[in-house]
Amino acid sequence: MRANTWAGRNKVKVRDVPDPTILNKRDAIVRITSTAICGSDLHLVDGYVPTMQDGDVMGHEFMGEVVEVGPGIDPDRLRIGDRVVVPFPIACGACAACAAELYSCCENSNPNAGIAEKMFGHPVAGIFGYSHLTGGFAGGQAQYARVPFADVGPLKIESDLTDEQVLFLSDILPTGYMGAEMCDIQSSDVVAVWGAGPVGQFAMDSARVLGAAKVIAIDKEPYRLQMAERAGHTPVNFEEVDVRSRLLELTGGRGPDKCIDAVGLEATHGSAHIAAYDRLKQAVRLETERPHALRQAILSCRSGGVVSVIGVYGGLLDKFPAGAWMNRSLTLRTGQCHVQRYMKPLLQRIERAELDPTRIITHTLPLDEAERGFELFKNKQDDCEKVVLKP
Ligand code: NAD
Ligand code: ZN
Ligand code: ZN
Repeated sequence: MRANTWAGRNKVKVRDVPDPTILNKRDAIVRITSTAICGSDLHLVDGYVPTMQDGDVMGHEFMGEVVEVGPGIDPDRLRIGDRVVVPFPIACGACAACAAELYSCCENSNPNAGIAEKMFGHPVAGIFGYSHLTGGFAGGQAQYARVPFADVGPLKIESDLTDEQVLFLSDILPTGYMGAEMCDIQSSDVVAVWGAGPVGQFAMDSARVLGAAKVIAIDKEPYRLQMAERAGHTPVNFEEVDVRSRLLELTGGRGPDKCIDAVGLEATHGSAHIAAYDRLKQAVRLETERPHALRQAILSCRSGGVVSVIGVYGGLLDKFPAGAWMNRSLTLRTGQCHVQRYMKPLLQRIERAELDPTRIITHTLPLDEAERGFELFKNKQDDCEKVVLKP
């Protein structure tokens, strides 16, 4: 089959790879009809995650048709011909974490959990297309994928919604929603979102759906800020104004009630980034350079407010404003998204037209043009917000 693969630092390449096969009795094989490029893929492409290997199949946002199921799958749960969206965290459905709906912390889904333990001092769960650190599972930027625990995660789509309407239930819509949900939004709340990428846009829409009085979008890309503004949010360009002063102006001098970091580690940090990569490669703990979106969110938040972090971080962080966190009684909440928890309720919100996930799609390309898709998305060319690939 054709698949988009990692081909060394800052390079992806579509090539022929072996078709996946059923390995365990609860596996399914999905023929992929739509898949997407995510900001999290950028953390891999630049070599930031040192456990990527040449030829690894990328991608964790995908959907399609079930073409094969293992003998352990109950046909009432899933059968050949079902149309499914696959959540990015792999989860067994039976461990203590899964029982608590903390699916992205599943204790059974990463056969390589020891790698993260050694690198970071804590385990991580299995994720599609996210290197050997998260289990070495081939990803979904491909014609087919093997889906482990297929009786737990995949969401059946039984209505006639288009792929474009439901694809993002695999990751970024639940992630943005979880970012807003963690804020316990009240009707008087001003919610500020750092990052107007796909995840940030969905955090903004979710904050609105959950009742926020005002939603502020912070970024530097004018076209991304305009996209947020068209959806009814208030743009702030951090290259043009001092963010903290502008936020104080917009909130009667107190700061936003709730702050969401939808940036995480930036994928293009140049040489400092590469130095971090080299340190990681030697399994030395990471002390990365300034994650300023998070610092700014903590320093801007009003006393007693919530800072919700959905941007991805790894390893150790320097210059964490512990003083502001403590003295202003802030609550910090975070997590890889527990996608399975949100898929059904968000599908209903899409069906009721409360959320329109298609609004962020700017490019649809054949899988064979994945390389161009990555260039456009990473370099923010041609006003690229979200790329959908069609295998
Ligand atoms: P993206 O790279 O397209 O968007 C990030 C945006 O942040 C860009 O528009 C960039 O200009 C902006 N930005 C950079 N520095 C900033 C700053 N200091 N202040 C404000 N904005 C800034 O990525 P995306 O697909 O939207 O993903 C965003 C983050 O969410 C990534 O870190 C990704 O890994 C993470 N993510 C997390 C989960 C989860 O489960 N928690 C799931 C998916 C993605
Ligand atoms: Zn993603
Ligand atoms: Zn589990």
